[in-house]
Amino acid sequence: MTPHILIAGGGIAGLTAALALHAAGFPHVTVVEAAPGIRPVGAGLNLMPNAVRELDALGVLDEVEAGAVRTRELRYYHRSGGLISREARGLRAGYRWPQLSVHRGHLQFVLAEAVRERLGPAALVGGVRVSGLDLLPDGRPRVRLEHRDGATRGLTSLRPDVLIGADGIRSTVRAALNPGEGEPPWNGMLVWRGVSRVDARRAGSFMFIAGDDRQKAVVYPVSEPTLRRPDTLVNWALAMPADRIANASSTSTRGDWNRPVPVDSFLHHYEGWEFDGVSVPDVLRAADGAFVYPMVDREPLTRWTHGRTTLIGDAAHAMYPIGSNGATQSIVDARALAHAMALHRDPAEALAAYEGERRPAMTELQRANRRLGPEIVINLAHRRAPGGFTDIDDVIPPHERADIAARYALTGAFDPATVNLGSPYEVPVSALP
Ligand SMILES: Cc1cc2nc3c(=O)[nH]c(=O)nc-3n(C[C@H](O)[C@H](O)[C@H](O)COP(=O)(O)OP(=O)(O)OC[C@H]3O[C@@H](n4cnc5c(N)ncnc54)[C@H](O)[C@@H]3O)c2cc1C
Repeated sequence: MTPHILIAGGGIAGLTAALALHAAGFPHVTVVEAAPGIRPVGAGLNLMPNAVRELDALGVLDEVEAGAVRTRELRYYHRSGGLISREARGLRAGYRWPQLSVHRGHLQFVLAEAVRERLGPAALVGGVRVSGLDLLPDGRPRVRLEHRDGATRGLTSLRPDVLIGADGIRSTVRAALNPGEGEPPWNGMLVWRGVSRVDARRAGSFMFIAGDDRQKAVVYPVSEPTLRRPDTLVNWALAMPADRIANASSTSTRGDWNRPVPVDSFLHHYEGWEFDGVSVPDVLRAADGAFVYPMVDREPLTRWTHGRTTLIGDAAHAMYPIGSNGATQSIVDARALAHAMALHRDPAEALAAYEGERRPAMTELQRANRRLGPEIVINLAHRRAPGGFTDIDDVIPPHERADIAARYALTGAFDPATVNLGSPYEVPVSALP
């Protein structure tokens, strides 16, 4: 009998874990997702080549790429418009896999479809959430479930062989394992996010990060123009300290991804922001709407695994949205977990092995993101040349810029040399149950 594995949360981490476990020889997997259906919520995100490699190994890359853009270049700009650096990305940077810019909704939809096709429609249960759990003396979890309205009609508690908490930054599983941890800590910054339909000629073909330590803009296309649809979907995320925003006191810091705000309430902060032909105000004016989100993360945990229960994705290591690591690392977690499950007969040992591999690296990345990761270059440029510059090499020498990028890539294990070795998570045929 193969074990029954219950996954709390059908986001990027949970759905990828279901696919990875199935591919590793575990067919008896159930994902319970609190939202009633998989809807295209959220905005864009970037997948680094190490995550794209794992999606390729799972056989979903073509479908993901069909609705994504290959990120070829990342540019950093000074607030004054000066170019701080431009880095080749993905295939152009020598990786065997591309970096992808994609709408989160498209990625989640492709993963959910693959789960239903491969594991059967009953494997993904919407509108049901994990409401609590107990750890039984033999290390197994007993999991309580409820409907969205809090009712428990028709639901019984479950005793799966393994529980995976993939339920995001405000994870119920994590809270049950770490009572008293409380809300995610907030760094005082607010992030506005959204997508806009923009004429492809005015969208830019690159991803850019612009601004300084007080105000920032990240903009990139997430769809390719086609003959039938000549415009491009452009993702944008703008960050500012809440104490500089007049009506910010009414903003919840709970980390609710779906809190809408009118674009007019913040557009004026970005008047005049234009970078090599891409006008941030023009992009914002073309948006249907916007969401506001407090910049929160999680304190690194000293333990993810308790017996036969563990955490993956944001539930394990939510970090600031810097360096394109949120979805990227949750996909790698999912594959690492399935690999460990296939190699270890005892599920508790498997979960401990998964944690042993992933937790130290993710803790380092969480800390690196608190120091702003590779985006520190825009702060350095502003600090050293607040009014702008003629030659960036006089402000941040090329070797210093290259060092910052390379050090961060090593921290996240997405440097080309490591990624191009191929996936370390392929399960040998001899280990398949
Ligand atoms: C609605 C939404 C929009 C987002 N938009 C963006 C974006 O635009 N850009 C970006 O970079 N990142 C976004 N993120 C975050 C990004 O998806 C994650 O950082 C990353 O992909 C890691 O994914 P995850 O699966 O660990 O967590 P999440 O993507 O947060 O997924 C967690 C899932 O668990 C479900 N869930 C929560 N509690 C329970 C429970 N008790 N029982 C069962 N299910 C539960 C949630 O509904 C959600 O589907 C968004 C997340 C969400 C939930």
